Amino acid sequence: MTDTALSRLRIIKERLAAVPAQYALPGAGALPEIVVVSKTHPAEAILPLLEAGHRTFGENRVQEAEAKWPALKARFPDTELHLIGHLQSNKAAEAVALFDVIESLDRPKLADALAAEMAKQNRLLPCYIQVNIGEEPQKGGVAMEELAGLLDHSRSLGLNIVGLMCIPPAEGNPAPHFALLRTLADRHGLALRSMGMSGDYEVAAAMGATQVRIGSALFGNRDP
Ligand SMILES: *Cc1c(COP(=O)(O)O)cnc(C)c1O
Repeated sequence: MTDTALSRLRIIKERLAAVPAQYALPGAGALPEIVVVSKTHPAEAILPLLEAGHRTFGENRVQEAEAKWPALKARFPDTELHLIGHLQSNKAAEAVALFDVIESLDRPKLADALAAEMAKQNRLLPCYIQVNIGEEPQKGGVAMEELAGLLDHSRSLGLNIVGLMCIPPAEGNPAPHFALLRTLADRHGLALRSMGMSGDYEVAAAMGATQVRIGSALFGNRDP
């Protein structure tokens, strides 16, 4: 199983490397970075990837990450851990202490909490603003018409906003959503675009993802 994750990671890298030629879209550029999404998987499943040199990982829950990652980070201190899930403001202290990148900033109140904690802990983490790109009521992410305001607010607090993140609707073609995220990032002078998961990372790469977040294509399906 664990060897499989490693060999699958190699295959995904090869596929990503083949993307520009395959899609031949303008704007397809350098290889996106792979955030290995290790949520629900135990440390034993993650270790072989760390031992093989992979260092960028994503978790969606603070509590779960706190149970797994301090020990792993002690062994591999250059690990870069990304928070990719909804963050409650009252968990900002824990999140800032453990994570290295926050990808799910989606509201002013959370920006306030993160800015206060980062100042307190003297850890200015790069942040992505998550955009509700498909305008789905049940999904996280800031509404598109509120993006500019949240960005201004975050920047005024001194937060380091590096890019935008999205999760397109589960059904339908993700490509227009990825294209829209790219347009929004360009419009706001943001260089990084975190988009694409196991089912659509090649499409996302072709549309200009700088980072893809991949879980089940590496580890198999998660238990519900
Ligand atoms: C779980 C998750 C992923 C990974 O999804 P897979 O389809 O398993 O690759 C990516 N991004 C976010 C925000 C997630 O919560």
